[in-house]
Formats: sequence, structure tokens, C-alpha cells
Amino acid sequence: MRHRLIVPTAAAACLLLAVPASAADATPGAPGIGDSYYPGYGNGGYDVSHYDLRLKYQPATDRLEGTATVLATATQDLSRFNLDFALDVSEVLVGGRKAAFAAKGDHELEITPAAPLASGRPFTVVVRYGGTPSAVKVGGFTSWLRTRDGGVAANEPEAAWWWFPSNDHPLDKATYDVSVAVPDGTQAISNGRLVSTTSRLGWTRYSWRSGKPQATYLATLAVGRFDITTDTTENGLPVLNAYSKNLGAGAGAAKASVERSAEVADWLSGVFGPYPFDALGGYVPDVPTSYALETQTRPFYSPRQFASGSNVSVVVHELAHQWYGDSVSLKDWRDIWVNEGFARYAQWLWSEKEGEGTAQELADYTYAQHPAEDAFWTVKPGDPGPDNQFHAAVYDRGAIALQALRNTVGDDDFFTILRKWPTDRAYGKWSVRDFEVFAEKVSGKPLGELFDTWLFTASKPGAPAARAAGIGADADADADADAGDGAGVTVARPKSWKAIHATDTVHGRAGR
Ligand SMILES: [Zn+2]
Repeated sequence: MRHRLIVPTAAAACLLLAVPASAADATPGAPGIGDSYYPGYGNGGYDVSHYDLRLKYQPATDRLEGTATVLATATQDLSRFNLDFALDVSEVLVGGRKAAFAAKGDHELEITPAAPLASGRPFTVVVRYGGTPSAVKVGGFTSWLRTRDGGVAANEPEAAWWWFPSNDHPLDKATYDVSVAVPDGTQAISNGRLVSTTSRLGWTRYSWRSGKPQATYLATLAVGRFDITTDTTENGLPVLNAYSKNLGAGAGAAKASVERSAEVADWLSGVFGPYPFDALGGYVPDVPTSYALETQTRPFYSPRQFASGSNVSVVVHELAHQWYGDSVSLKDWRDIWVNEGFARYAQWLWSEKEGEGTAQELADYTYAQHPAEDAFWTVKPGDPGPDNQFHAAVYDRGAIALQALRNTVGDDDFFTILRKWPTDRAYGKWSVRDFEVFAEKVSGKPLGELFDTWLFTASKPGAPAARAAGIGADADADADADAGDGAGVTVARPKSWKAIHATDTVHGRAGR
């Protein structure tokens, strides 16, 4: 196959006759974008449209170096601005002119351009950098997972700091070209489509393109020795999966799961509407972690997800995120339910389709499983707090909330909501409350009390509220006689329970 070199068009920036900002009016951009859980993440004063990363990585030494070209537009008159980054920087240019720069805190790169940047004006930042990402600790950890034959960047919410400078928050999504040179015989896996591979003087360069908006934590890079499989979906989407050559006896189970990505995505398209991206796949690197992550178009799976055998449920979870989490993403990390509640509910729907337990049975069982005094109920999925962002309650209670919504509005409206939200809002950013308003609009029903009960109350919804939402209703005729919270009620365990909960470590943070 012949590959064509595709040069990104940066012409737009040159055509604008910008009025220079006056030095007196220009002010520094904020060092954080304003997230309620992570005030220092992301930055203010500009919006990125594209990242072009041209890198080189040596697995033997874990040395990563290269150049990032960031296309952005100022949203205020800027005297100075920050990027989030933790590796060593050797040079920064803004608009082709050398800029002053300084590392601030543990993940801020403060850049002072030679002249202020006018609000509304596009500008280009070039950052030359290098480092050993596994050795760079921020807050005591690194998200760069070192493997026997390379390294991997995949974590949430912190991942980008160790491999490219960025406006590191989902509020600022952008397109990407990621081109990485690695020693011949080694592969570099990233998001989107593989545009070209070229070899020269012992190095092979892999160039990837993500043409739809992508959050920084959903950008991924994996270098190592992989077995790569490719295919095309019925709709003509290119599928590319990659499996570390070091998976050993677990390779079969990993492949038997991830090779079903195209089938799962086709099924999810029937539930959530058209697949939002132009490529598909998954990768399983040789990492010691246990989590999986919905890195855009190409989810990351730790081998441990398949340690007890194949698990298609985790593939369903990560691919469901392509609609809920990736295409439609959160405004603030507080809104994590918009990602996780739906990805877990997709696992329940898959179980229902496979005849291994309906979503209703899974909701009833989950509700009955946790007695009122269980700390599970103290976590509010709609605002869990940074320490509980990936708590089981965000997933399980979050999915019960969706079953409660389904029972309240009926299947027709519920599945219209599930499909319309990611279709109408593709590539946008939304909050839990935005979803509530949307569901009210589609169903014509007031849903405030329902959302408050299931997502925003730090205690177990009692039997009357559960009955009203159709949760635990079939549990037992004696439910009325019990403590009123479903405790002591016997509900049969759905067959899919084990596979779904084998994915409970789907998100986690590396190295801490
Ligand atoms: Zn998830």
C-alpha cells in the first residue's frame, strides 16, 4: 500500500490581518480553566484547535523528544499564557518568534510571547522538548507506563503532561496529528487513522490523524512490539487493533474480546446512533495496571482485564464511551456521570441483549446488594467529589439512575433520549444538569426529583422512591415489611454480574 504525505493546512492563520494587542491592555491567561475539582488543570485565555506532535521515542532509554506545534486562538488580549506540561522544554516560539518560558509548579509551562496576542487572533506555538517520562513525577506519580519494550500514555484525568504540552482539560478539544519515530521492529500506536508509516536509517515513523475534536486525556500513545490486526467495518471504517507480543498465555483472551470491537460498535450504533469517529479499534499493551480507558477511537485495555478469560463487557464499556464521554464530553470533571453512568448502562443493555440478565434485573440486584448503611450510597454520582470520581457508585448507582429514568419516561422516550443526546450534541461539552433538561424536553415530564433522588442525594433512596421509579419492585412481596430500603430482599444475581464487575477497575490512576 502506498502512503501519501498529507500536509495540514495552516494557511488560515496567515490570512488574518490581526490588530496587535496593546501591551497595556493585555493580561496573563489564567493558569487553570476553572474546573471545580481540578482548578489548576487546563488554562485560560486561548482555545486550541489543533495539535501537531512530531516525536521520537527510544524504548531502551525511555527518552521521548520532539516538537509540538499548537494552533490556538486568543480569547483575551494575552500578555502571557500557560500550557500544561511536565517534561523539559528547550525552546518555545510563538508566531515564529522566540518566546520566554518558565516551568511553574509541577505541570505548568508559562510562556511570554515577544509581543502581546490580540483577542480573537489565531496564533501558533512551537515547543521543542525532551525527557524521560517515567522518571517525571507530578504529585508523586507518573502516568507514563513503562513496559518491557516501550511505554504508554493512558490515564484519566492526567495523561498529557508526560508526552505533549496542552491546554489539559476536556473543555478545550482539538484535532491531532501524532507522528512518532521508533526503532525498526517497534510500533507506535495512537488515536484515529494510521496515515503513513515510513522507514529510514533504522527508524520507522508512524503518523496518525484524529480529525474530530478530542480531549487531551483521550489522546494516547503506546510504543512497543505489537501484533496488529486490521479490518474494515460494514460501513467502511478502518479497524486497527494492537496486542503486545508479551501477553503470553493471555493473548487469546485479549484478542477474543477486542477483536469483537467492530461488532460491538455496530450494535452500539443501533442504540446510540451513528458511530461518531472515522476509525475504530483497541490496544492491549504489556502494562502491569488493571484499568481500561476510552482513549478516543482506540481504547486502552490492561491485560488484567482479560486475566480470567475473554470479557466483551469491558469492550462494550469503552466503546460506549466513544459516544458518551468522547464525542459528547463533560464540561467539568464533576460531570463524570455523563460518561460513566452511560458506559455502565451500555454493559447492562448488552447483558439484556445476550440474555444474561436485563437492565431491570441488574438495577434491582444492585439496589438490593447495598444496604442503606453501605458507604456506596454516600457518594452522589451527579457530584461525587474528586476523591470519588471513579467510585463504584458513579457507575452502578449511576446506571440505576438511568433505569429509573427508563421506567419513568417509558422505553420509547428513553431510547430516543439515548440516541438523540449523542447525535444532536456530537463533539460538544455538556453537564449532568444539561442532560436532565434535555431528558425533560424529550419526555415532556418534570424529572428534577428523579435526578435529585438518584444522582444528588447522599443516602439510599428509600422503598417509596424506589417503587415510584420501578427499582426493586419485583424484588419481593415482603419488601413492604422490611426496613424500607430493600435490605434483606432476595434478588437473583444476573448471569452477567461477574463479567460486568470484572471491569470495575476500568478507570484508575497509575502509580499512586
Ligand atoms: Zn468508563
